[in-house]
Formats: sequence, C-alpha cells, structure tokens
Amino acid sequence: MHSFNRKRVLVTGGAGFLGSHLCERLLERGHDVLCADNFFTGSRDNVLHLLENPHFELMRHDVTFPLYVEVDEIYNLACPASPIHYQHDPVQTTKTSVHGAINMLGLAKRLGARIMQASTSEVYGDPAIHPQPEEYWGNVNTIGPRACYDEGKRCAETLFFDYHRQHQLSIKVIRIFNTYGPRMHPNDGRVVSNFIIQALKGEAITVYGDGQQTRSFCYVDDLVDGFLRFMDTPAEATGPLNLGNPGEFTMLELAEKVIRLTGSASRIAHKPLPQDDPKQRQPDISKARALMGWEPTVPLDEGLARTIAYFRGRFFA
Ligand code: NAD
Ligand code: UDP
Ligand code: UDP
Repeated sequence: MHSFNRKRVLVTGGAGFLGSHLCERLLERGHDVLCADNFFTGSRDNVLHLLENPHFELMRHDVTFPLYVEVDEIYNLACPASPIHYQHDPVQTTKTSVHGAINMLGLAKRLGARIMQASTSEVYGDPAIHPQPEEYWGNVNTIGPRACYDEGKRCAETLFFDYHRQHQLSIKVIRIFNTYGPRMHPNDGRVVSNFIIQALKGEAITVYGDGQQTRSFCYVDDLVDGFLRFMDTPAEATGPLNLGNPGEFTMLELAEKVIRLTGSASRIAHKPLPQDDPKQRQPDISKARALMGWEPTVPLDEGLARTIAYFRGRFFA
C-alpha cells in the first residue's frame, strides 16, 4: 500500500440497502469499515460478501444506545426508510433518528470525527415548490403517520447543526431523493421493487391513479459517489445538500420500461391513488453540481437493467 490515508470509518445502518453499497466502496478505497446495524430492515446477507475482508467488521448495535468505538469518520444511515417499515414501530423510528443522532454526534464530538447524516427529501414534506432547493423549509404534517420519519429526520438535522455551532463539529448533511438499485427491499412497497417483482412474476403491474404522477430515481452507485465526494469537501460545506437524479418520469413510463426490460407479458392494472400521494418530486441538484461537480451518470434504463438482474438472480433463480 502506498502513502495513503487509511481511515477507520463507521457506517451505521451499514447492512441496509444504501449502507452495504457504501461499505463496499469505502473498502475499495482502502479504508477500514465498521458496520453497525440492528438488522431491523438490513441483513447479514447484504454484506455477506464483505465478511471475509479483514478490513471489514460487522457489529450488531442499535444506535438508540450509546456506542463507544474509535473511528475517524462516521456515516449515519441507520433508520428504516420505507413507509411500511418506518410505520411498523413509529416510536422506535423517531428514537432511531433523534437518539441515534445524539449518540452518533456525542461519539463524533469525543473523537473529533467528521460525521455525515443521511437526511431525506421527506424533510420537504408535501412541497409547495418544484424542484426543491435546499433553502425550502418544507411543509410537513407534525402529527400524521409519516411524521415519525419526517420529523425525526428534521430533528436530526437540527441536532447536527446545533452540534456544529455549539461544539464546532464537522458535519455533512445530505438530503437523499428516491434511490434504487440492487439490494433494495423486495417487499417494501416502493414503486421500483413492486414493478420489477410483478413483472418477473408475470403479475399485473399496479399503477396507482392515472400514472401521470412523476418521480425522479437515482441509481445507488451515483448516490454513493455523491456521499464520498461530499465527505471530502472542505469543512465549510456542511450542507444540507440535495442528492438525487433530476430526470423525471411518470409512473406509467416507469411501468412500460420495466415491462420492456424484463421482457414480461405483464399488463398494467390501475389501482386507487393513496392519500396524500405527491404529484411530483424532483431534486434541485445545482448546489451539488457547483460544489463538487457531481451529477448522476447512470441512465434509468441501465440502472433498471442492473436492478432487474439482481432481483432475478436473488429471488427468481
Ligand atoms: P434500509 O432500511 O435498507 O437501511 C437502513 C438500515 O438501518 C438497515 O440496515 C436497518 O437494519 C438499520 N437500522 C434501522 N434502525 C436502526 C437502529 N435503531 N440501530 C441500528 N441500525 C438500524 O434503507 P436505505 O434505503 O438503505 O436507507 C439508508 C438511509 O438513507 C436511511 O437513513 C434513510 O432514511 C436514508 N434515505 C434513503 C432513501 C432511499 O431512497 N433509499 C431516500 C432518502 C433517505
Ligand atoms: N456518546 C456515545 N459515544 C461516545 C460519546 C457519547 O454514544 O463516545 C453518547 C452518550 O450516550 C451521550 C450522547 O452521545 O449521551 C451525547 O454526547 P454529548 O457528549 O454530546 O452529551 P452528554 O454526554 O454531555 O450528554
Ligand atoms: N406507485 C405505484 N404503484 C406501486 C407503488 C407505488 O404506482 O405499486 C406510485 C405511488 O403512488 C407514487 C410513486 O409510485 O406515486 C412512488 O411511490 P413510492 O412509494 O415508491 O415513493 P414515494 O411516493 O415516497 O416517492
């Protein structure tokens, strides 16, 4: 190994969808990775291929409890991300975001370590402006069924900025927009996994409403590249920083792509639109572009093809 700055990096939620890809990329870069996860929505399977690596360590830990370890950098991803999962035990969801943030910030403070928070586009709630720039304060219902996630994440952002101002901690807050790819959950009810599984099973593709609502989907490799680049920006760049893919597609377009790429004979079946379903969600990534020249590079068709290959191999082999 040449003169390289090997770091010890903690990834909370590292056995989840995004976390497992992040662990992989950090190891590829030559770092030591400590993955802490309570396996609520993540699993050992997601990091099985890393367990033989002497630079990788997997630890069962719930971030709502204190953690005393020695690391140089922290990525705080622990938190269930889909409504089905985060509404299963909403009190635990808020605790994970809030107590988890306090514990990881306390850890970062003791160590003088830089810490990144995986925040979310959900902090914008049901947005009144499109696309959403980081300055937008959001429109969140404090007492609805999504509040445990949205408000938990908002409070975590507050804690990050207060630790930054009060204790001079180096923080990096990213607001992640819809991301997809291999190792996403098969049963979390999200549109990409639903459509792919339905297509592979030859079942009807369930498009909610008329399918004219739009979403923007970022392939996981692009997002993780954004994490790594942002972590290495100067300390003044605290965020919050939007990361996502601005390409917008209607759900009907998505359904048609999935049918074509899987070669499925599935038909489209329209189902009722869920309550409060946003018409449109799209990131404004001009800050990420200007700060670090970042923008997504994987087109939806290609990312879908890779995700379909994963689902085929894992569940339909
Ligand atoms: P995921 O559910 O696959 O990963 C979350 C991980 O956190 C899982 O491995 C889970 O077991 C773990 N976890 C949950 N509660 C924990 C606790 N109390 N202690 C320790 N570990 C705990 O979801 P993901 O999509 O990989 O999301 C990762 C992070 O990114 C989350 O914080 C999520 O809010 C955020 N995010 C994701 C998206 C997306 O599109 N995937 C969008 C916005 C934000
Ligand atoms: N903490 C932790 N690991 C550490 C240091 C702190 O988990 O290495 C937790 C600890 O439980 C504490 C929280 O982080 O409650 C916040 O720490 P901080 O030092 O900010 O606050 P205090 O300890 O004064 O409450
Ligand atoms: N959706 C759909 N069929 C499904 C699942 C979701 O048409 O089987 C729609 C849903 O109504 C929404 C969009 O796809 O308009 C994205 O839904 P998802 O839950 O994946 O993400 P979010 O609404 O949080 O962006």
